Amino acid sequence: MVRDSHYFPVIIIGGGPAGLATSLTLSARGIPHCIVDANEVPVNKPGEAIPPNAKPLLKQLGIDHLIDNKRHLPYYGNKACWGDDTLRQEEFITDVHGHGYLLNRLLFETELREHITSALCTNFWGYKLRLVEQQDQETIVRIEGSSESHELRCRYVVDATGRKASVCRQLGVLKTALDEQFALTLQVPIRNNMAHQIHIEAIENGWWYAALLGQSQMNLMFFASKSLIPAKSDLPEFLENALNKSIYIKKLIDKSLLPLNATEIRVIPAGTSCLDVPYGANWLAVGDAAYAYDPISSYGITSGLGAGYYAGHTLADALDGKQEAFDVYRYLMENAFQAYLEKLENHYALEQRWPQSGYWVNRINMTPVA
Ligand SMILES: Cc1cc2nc3c(=O)[nH]c(=O)nc-3n(C[C@H](O)[C@H](O)[C@H](O)COP(=O)(O)OP(=O)(O)OC[C@H]3O[C@@H](n4cnc5c(N)ncnc54)[C@H](O)[C@@H]3O)c2cc1C
Repeated sequence: MVRDSHYFPVIIIGGGPAGLATSLTLSARGIPHCIVDANEVPVNKPGEAIPPNAKPLLKQLGIDHLIDNKRHLPYYGNKACWGDDTLRQEEFITDVHGHGYLLNRLLFETELREHITSALCTNFWGYKLRLVEQQDQETIVRIEGSSESHELRCRYVVDATGRKASVCRQLGVLKTALDEQFALTLQVPIRNNMAHQIHIEAIENGWWYAALLGQSQMNLMFFASKSLIPAKSDLPEFLENALNKSIYIKKLIDKSLLPLNATEIRVIPAGTSCLDVPYGANWLAVGDAAYAYDPISSYGITSGLGAGYYAGHTLADALDGKQEAFDVYRYLMENAFQAYLEKLENHYALEQRWPQSGYWVNRINMTPVA
């Protein structure tokens, strides 16, 4: 059943960090809007590291109290084996902002959602985007829940749907993928006490990531080229081989956990991708929908929150007749993305041990993937 048509100046599709930060900023600017997410309650997502320099942004958004509590772990630095066989330690102790955080991601997104209490925001949790269509001066957005559908109208629709960029796809705007990296993720019990640090290790066909998740579990991820990842049933063997090639990560894993359980391994896209332009006449993209970052950067959550902050101000200004706000948004986002690309290329270029490896050759030559 399609319910009556509601008008909002802005409709945000996607209630992850980027969509929620856009909503918070629109509320602060007094702009009525709605936010739509396919999941009735947040679901667990991979990725938990928040670097120390994210703190001023969290404060600016008024959400610093959400992460500064004991249910998220302090993150004191990184241990990385990259470029040669040495394990190097980078401590945040001298960082002006102190330590970062290893988030309980589900708790963070649940509390962030609960924080969206403004009367200016209407929530549609559990509704999936079905259609975006331009009609005269308005945009029609059709969303579908488990028992009813709504047809909404707006001046601007925000794509905050993450890597899929579903709004852009509906509008025929496609993202460019700069590589074909995927992540194999799983959670395993920790062996002994584990440092509140991120462990990174490069091997011949990819790299490992391990970080504490609560007191007794760790997030374990292996990053590889899509073309080298085998069928689901062969994933445990593939990961075990990759573990055996590591010097340090394998020491974090209790051998009694092997072979790993194929049903617990998730395979998800984890490369770099971007839109040519992050806005159009009636839409604007934020977070991963606009620019998706390689997790080696630990940049996605913070960048999504930051993009949401600037997107909210951009839309508020545009509704006030200041169309140039979109160009300012583009300038900020593109510059941040270019700076990231430079750092990324430099970082991957440090690893020269396997010049014949399909994975590392692809990393170093960051050319668009068709
Ligand atoms: C393996 C991996 C590890 C990572 N590690 C880190 C890390 O350590 N630190 C870090 O900062 N970042 C990390 N990231 C990146 C980070 O998770 C993302 O950058 C971040 O989640 C982006 O936020 P977002 O709001 O743009 O998108 P998302 O968090 O993906 O949110 C998009 C939302 O849109 C909703 N949605 C999607 N389609 C529709 C639809 N059709 N209709 C309605 N709703 C829809 C979804 O339900 C979802 O809630 C990692 C990513 C990966 C893949």
